[in-house]
Amino acid sequence: MVEGETIDTASLDGYVPFDSERQQAYIDAGYWRNITFHDVVDRHAEEIPDYTALVGPHRELTYAELAANSRRIAAYFVGELGLRPNERVVLQLPNCTEFLEAFVACSRVGVIPVMVLPRHRSAEANHVVDLTDARAYVVDYGRYSSGFDFVGLADDVRSSHESLEHLIAVTDGETSSVDGCDAFAEMRDERWVDKYGDEVSKTDVDPSKPGVMLLSGGTTGLPKAIPRTHNEYVFQWERMADAADVRDDWVAFPGVPIGHNASLNCIVGAALWAGATVAVEPELKPDALMAFIERVGGNYTLPMPTQILDILEHPDLDQYDLSSLEVLVSGGQKVPPRVVEEAVDRWNVGFCNIFGMAEGPLICTRPGDDVKVQANTVGRPIAPEADEIRIVETDRETEVPPGEAGELAVRGPGYFTGYFRNEKENTENFSDDGWFFTEDVLARRDDGNLEVYGRIKDTIIRGGENIYAPGIEDELVEHSKIANAALIGMPDDRLGERPAAFVELTDDATELPLKDVSSFLEERGIAVFKRPEYLEILESLPRTEVGKIEKQALKDRIVDAESK
Ligand code: AMP
Repeated sequence: MVEGETIDTASLDGYVPFDSERQQAYIDAGYWRNITFHDVVDRHAEEIPDYTALVGPHRELTYAELAANSRRIAAYFVGELGLRPNERVVLQLPNCTEFLEAFVACSRVGVIPVMVLPRHRSAEANHVVDLTDARAYVVDYGRYSSGFDFVGLADDVRSSHESLEHLIAVTDGETSSVDGCDAFAEMRDERWVDKYGDEVSKTDVDPSKPGVMLLSGGTTGLPKAIPRTHNEYVFQWERMADAADVRDDWVAFPGVPIGHNASLNCIVGAALWAGATVAVEPELKPDALMAFIERVGGNYTLPMPTQILDILEHPDLDQYDLSSLEVLVSGGQKVPPRVVEEAVDRWNVGFCNIFGMAEGPLICTRPGDDVKVQANTVGRPIAPEADEIRIVETDRETEVPPGEAGELAVRGPGYFTGYFRNEKENTENFSDDGWFFTEDVLARRDDGNLEVYGRIKDTIIRGGENIYAPGIEDELVEHSKIANAALIGMPDDRLGERPAAFVELTDDATELPLKDVSSFLEERGIAVFKRPEYLEILESLPRTEVGKIEKQALKDRIVDAESK
């Protein structure tokens, strides 16, 4: 920044705040504690200073050290980089201790970290910096040997964005600096607190303002930015810790990138709330995860369903001691019931089958629920008395009769209030009185547990009959030759759509005719109109950065094939 130039510090144009009445109601009810992310850490730094907060591949930090380091980094942010409250900083790091030091540092000075995932590349990075006018970008420089040039990526983005002034590199032990970047390791020096500590302590961070921006999963198009306030997010950390019975002597470890809400909220946030230890490992492949669980004695984690399946089917599974596992959380896409049953059977764990969205909704089974409930439902909202939930017809007003499927609409102290700088989406998907329409189809069973049917867009309508793809996918993976399956609607002139299946075969299978799949489903009592009329075997199904199946790519594939 040019000396003397001022920045508009307070503005957060394009953010939709909670209306003041709701804010007050949440505070009065005790749902919002009016504390920030760093307050959560500081409370433990005072009460249990020497307890291990973070374990990473290279270092361990106590709560006192996490608090102290983040204070130094915060001082550097304001003093050396001139970052001001409400400004945005991109964090694109693997799961590592530095991620959380930077996250807490941002909180101290009211800077909003934007969660770009390690697998995002130039299209997403440019879009996100464009959208958020980020002023700094934090990347790994070989410390976690990802093999990808993140500094090069961030530098490219900088060359076309005036707002982006600073690149910050997390380097390995030998490389102390990288050309054109500030060195993260330097920021942990005590001298920054001596020099700028007063500025940090004078920063007024409002817990009802955004403390983080998550990105929407986006199986199509570019991600949307989802601002989450300290108040609403800390509320969910607390409620998630309660729902999963997270204990303060546990080691929690994220099985998906921390930048994803599933990790940051359900695992890292819940563990920080409880004063437990968070262990982080950048490598998230099955062998690495198993070795890691054994090494750190991991008790609490959230992998995607496919990761659990990969571990359960891993040839070396018996060589690892995973007996420390206490609670497994999984979701983000439909968890096949057999994955829950096998995991519970094998590890004797409590299973939180979770329906989650970065926008807020967290609905899950509890560790003590019956395994049938854990396998077939996503349980109840994490804060049943506070979370407002409705299941509505296509008019988005009338509630469906009990037991029937409809669109999930939500409002409450743990849910976001609108996408950042995206009036179109906000107008389309919010009601005037603050309900958010999720575009997900769920049903509430008589016992109060919710079942997920899929995205509205995942519903295949064949000649007027609804087919919920995830239910059929669950049936398909029960076939002995099918490892993974995705069902989509292929366009049809007469019927509108017809179901088409894409499958990955198990290791020992070589072929699978459509007629075998059809008779298999017939034996399982699946109505004829729901059975796939097209089958394609793929080496691997296309997936998003967190491993969800990318159905749009399959739809494009089928349209392309038909137009040839
Ligand atoms: P993201 O915010 O990227 O985690 O994506 C959220 C979306 O993932 C939701 O809107 C759902 O469509 C899907 N999803 C999350 N959890 C589940 C689940 N347990 N079963 C089926 N779909 C899910």
